[in-house]
Amino acid sequence: MNDLSSPFASRDAQSNIINNPDIPTSEKFSDPLEEQTHRKKRLVVSLKLFSSFGFDEGVAGHITVRDPIDQESFWVNPFGIHFSEVGITDLIRVTHDGKIVEGTNPVNAAAFAIHSRIHMAHPNINAACHAHSVYGKTWSTFGQCLDPITQDSCAFYEHHDVFKQYSGLVLETSEGDEIAKLLSNKKALILQNHGLLTVGSFVESAAWWFITMERSCQAQLMANSVNGKDIIRISNDAARKAFDIIGNEEAGWFGFQPLLQKIIKKYPELK
Ligand SMILES: [Zn+2]
Repeated sequence: MNDLSSPFASRDAQSNIINNPDIPTSEKFSDPLEEQTHRKKRLVVSLKLFSSFGFDEGVAGHITVRDPIDQESFWVNPFGIHFSEVGITDLIRVTHDGKIVEGTNPVNAAAFAIHSRIHMAHPNINAACHAHSVYGKTWSTFGQCLDPITQDSCAFYEHHDVFKQYSGLVLETSEGDEIAKLLSNKKALILQNHGLLTVGSFVESAAWWFITMERSCQAQLMANSVNGKDIIRISNDAARKAFDIIGNEEAGWFGFQPLLQKIIKKYPELK
């Protein structure tokens, strides 16, 4: 069931898609080692998806997932390796105070400064994604939240914010703390003049929020660029109703599944 203590929870559990018994729900694990392997595989799948969507920009971008055994540490992709090339054995485990405890690759300092503080501040956030995707960073230059103008954008209605303090590369954990504060009841941030950041209880949901948020940025940019036509905004009430169905964590996990199937077909070892 959806965790109603989570900031990502549906406003109305009765309207949650998981009430439909035919719809698959997130995996439950009794063995932490099995869960660790699962999370690492899904992290690698998410990186492959980010590559396929063209979210790479040189060495920028990181996806992290909390280690289910040592929960004061997280797994992250290595610095300087293309999203598409990262395998499970390339992942690095870093503690919240910055010690590399597994893996030999370098870690992006910004990944540590941002993600360690998010994972520390929010025990319910198990995964976080950040990349310099083109539509996200373009939309970020306006310093504004997305409007509820399409059904898909309602997944973020009242559940995202803008981090406005662009001060150069995020290398200080104090800035990571400020970013983490804004996520106290949100699933995503628009980092002004920078790019998107999404979080989730699952790496699957965090990655899906990133993918669909990037596309919502694209949709709003395209809609805004048409001269002479007014954009019809979805009513607040309808946006909240849509959010309740598509904006909760199980819906995010479910949104990831068709994309996962495509990757597993090519890389069956990631199943
Ligand atoms: Zn960045």
